[in-house]
Amino acid sequence: MDSEIQAQSNRVTLLFSENYSLNQERACGESCIHSRMKKSPAHRCRDIERQAGYLQPEHCAPPPTCPRSEAIWFIRDCCGIVCGVITWFLVFYAEFVVLFVMLLPAKNLLYSLINGALFSTLAFLALASHARAMCTDPGAVPKGNATKEFIESLQLKPGQVVYKCPKCCSIKPDRAHHCSVCKRCIKKMDHHCPWVNNCVGEKNQKFFVLFTMYIALISLHALVMVAFHFIFCLESDWTKCSTFSPPATVIFLILLCFEGLLFLLFTSVMFGTQVHSICTDETGIEQLKKEERRWAKRTKWMNMRVIFGHPFSIAWLSPFATPDHGKADYYQYVV
Ligand SMILES: [Zn+2]
Ligand SMILES: [Zn+2]
Repeated sequence: MDSEIQAQSNRVTLLFSENYSLNQERACGESCIHSRMKKSPAHRCRDIERQAGYLQPEHCAPPPTCPRSEAIWFIRDCCGIVCGVITWFLVFYAEFVVLFVMLLPAKNLLYSLINGALFSTLAFLALASHARAMCTDPGAVPKGNATKEFIESLQLKPGQVVYKCPKCCSIKPDRAHHCSVCKRCIKKMDHHCPWVNNCVGEKNQKFFVLFTMYIALISLHALVMVAFHFIFCLESDWTKCSTFSPPATVIFLILLCFEGLLFLLFTSVMFGTQVHSICTDETGIEQLKKEERRWAKRTKWMNMRVIFGHPFSIAWLSPFATPDHGKADYYQYVV
């Protein structure tokens, strides 16, 4: 993936070089572009060459007449599907050990009930966030819309340029990047995450952030319970602290401990990175490429509302509440 991002980085940096001449564009064979960007946030589309010849629209299949907006978004990538299944398996494994190895044999019913309910609720929210992150369109640009008709419908002024992605034949909005796994251009693409088998982009970043947060929370909770259980077992007889044999119990607990540590570290770092990237309104790819900021600067709070929806409510923590990006985008200018 790094090489792909690097390749994209080189290409896009070249495309946006201020000194990039039209003659060079003609020579490069790609359907592009010069670099004068409109600074206003209201004009996010790139300026582009009006002559449709450079865009080679005849090489693009027309977009589907009936966009399958009703269809569930799912990336058919073997590696991503395997990683997604492993994620679910590991959460179920943790649930099994917590409930059947640690909490059921525990003497204190209140302790078992509270911890069991808390862990199960957080695990359910983590899996729901995972499913939403995986099956939500991250902000894909319509495939093959770089047709002559569409370019003409943009009513570009002479001298304006737009950028066509040569890989998926789409007119690329500003801040969109092509993902080689999804085979689509994704608006505000942060990165492609095999663990959720999807790109993290404009429309599913909330679910990805929630997924990392809930996984970090259940990992921490599991680690605390494992520590308490070890103390409990050491103080009492090992045969009484679990319904399983002492060696099996120890193996279950050590594996959970290892899993919890690994996931706590990984997801908490990811959560921090994501929140930072949302607050600064700079995607992972933009940070990697050190792209020059061409979009309006907003406060951290406004940036959060763009991703999580407006206004602030408990729905921010719910993987079932879809943020109204349009409304949040509107509020960022009027608040
Ligand atoms: Zn593309
Ligand atoms: Zn992707």
